[in-house]
Amino acid sequence: MAMIILANYFVFYLFYSINFLFGRIITSLFFVINAVAVYFINTYSVIIDESMIGNIFNTNYAESSSFFALKLVLYLVLLGIIPSILIFKVKIQKVNLKLFFKNTGIALSLIIIIVIANANNILWIDKHSKVIGGLAMPWSYTVNIPRYLIHKNQENEKEILLPDATITNKEKSVVVLVIGESARSKNFSLYGYDKNTNPLLAKTDNLYHFKATSCATYTTAAVKCLLEHQNTNELYEILPNYLDRNNVAVIWRTTNWGEPPVHIDKYQKAEDLAPNCKDESCAYDEILLKDLKQEIVNAKQDKILIVLHTSTSHGPTYSKKYPKQFEVFKPVCNSVELAHCSNQELINAYDNTIVYTDYILHSIIGELEQLKDYKSAMIYVSDHGESLGEKNLYMHGVPMSIAPKEQYEIPFIVWVSENSKQLKPQEQVSQNHVFHSVLNFLSINTPFYNESLNIFK
Ligand SMILES: [Zn+2]
Repeated sequence: MAMIILANYFVFYLFYSINFLFGRIITSLFFVINAVAVYFINTYSVIIDESMIGNIFNTNYAESSSFFALKLVLYLVLLGIIPSILIFKVKIQKVNLKLFFKNTGIALSLIIIIVIANANNILWIDKHSKVIGGLAMPWSYTVNIPRYLIHKNQENEKEILLPDATITNKEKSVVVLVIGESARSKNFSLYGYDKNTNPLLAKTDNLYHFKATSCATYTTAAVKCLLEHQNTNELYEILPNYLDRNNVAVIWRTTNWGEPPVHIDKYQKAEDLAPNCKDESCAYDEILLKDLKQEIVNAKQDKILIVLHTSTSHGPTYSKKYPKQFEVFKPVCNSVELAHCSNQELINAYDNTIVYTDYILHSIIGELEQLKDYKSAMIYVSDHGESLGEKNLYMHGVPMSIAPKEQYEIPFIVWVSENSKQLKPQEQVSQNHVFHSVLNFLSINTPFYNESLNIFK
């Protein structure tokens, strides 16, 4: 609260010091817009975040006229117009340069003090930033309108198309690509962790795991890399879009976000799957498995790619990401303020997300095993790793050049059905291995195929 008042004081003080009239116009304008925004917040319990701005831009006039009410006029007059009149009436004192620096200096120092004093609450602020930011006037809309427009623009950004592909045989085959969230290989017993976090996968035949590192330590960049044929700063056609355009059946299911634009018909969010998913497990990533086998059987094409973008190990509340029966390691941390939990509680909660991931991957394999007419593969790759208090770091997102290995050492786990394909003896792979390995498994020929990035024989 104090922070917002100070920030407003600081910025508007600067406006007035440029020019009184300019300051008056800007302040009045914000008062009027704030009045409307506060009306909507109070009446509809909304927060003015980026998606709300999107809703406002996408609302047509017929709909918006139904928002008009006497109450809105009251808000406008009392909170917008009357203050604006006062702003123009009030006499403004001219200040000299010394006073100007004194006032701005005090405001700025107080801001810095508040930031430092709240450094420990940064995770809380991060988790609630959408709400806090969405309620702070006039920052909510001045920040979120440009954000919305920039993202809108990015969505329309043309991806660079790759040369057409040819499918070289008519064998039925399916790949399920599972994209993990914040899963680090260190906590998988398959990778040598001393707690048994992979009880089911450890007993699964035809299962392989590779050492792998992610391209980035945050979701958007890492998922883009995982879906591209090479790691670039350009936006090339990503795997699902490319295969969909080249006669492969592609289904994308997600409980997550942050992927590059996917434009395929079968893009299914958790809320699209929810109407057909009623039991308790539907609140967790298992919802992505709902009727999956049926979707595969129903596909008209011989070649199928399913992408499941999961969110199981996403912090800070790891203990909320799995059903109760997967709480194998106890006690767990239930707070969003990770520094307030003991390290053991935090790691227990995180390890339970890995146990749940183990169960989900094992369930997918079980479904694929039942599809005897298909050659099938399951590839699980995390987007990036996670810090759990090592070097006093939590979560992820440290720039790659200085990131600790916990944030980029990721699991890369592959299962293949009996009589489908064998794997090359290989130790280390990258996220770009996904693209070329999927092409190979589905027998798809392209000019840019890179055999050295393929894991299959
Ligand atoms: Zn992520």
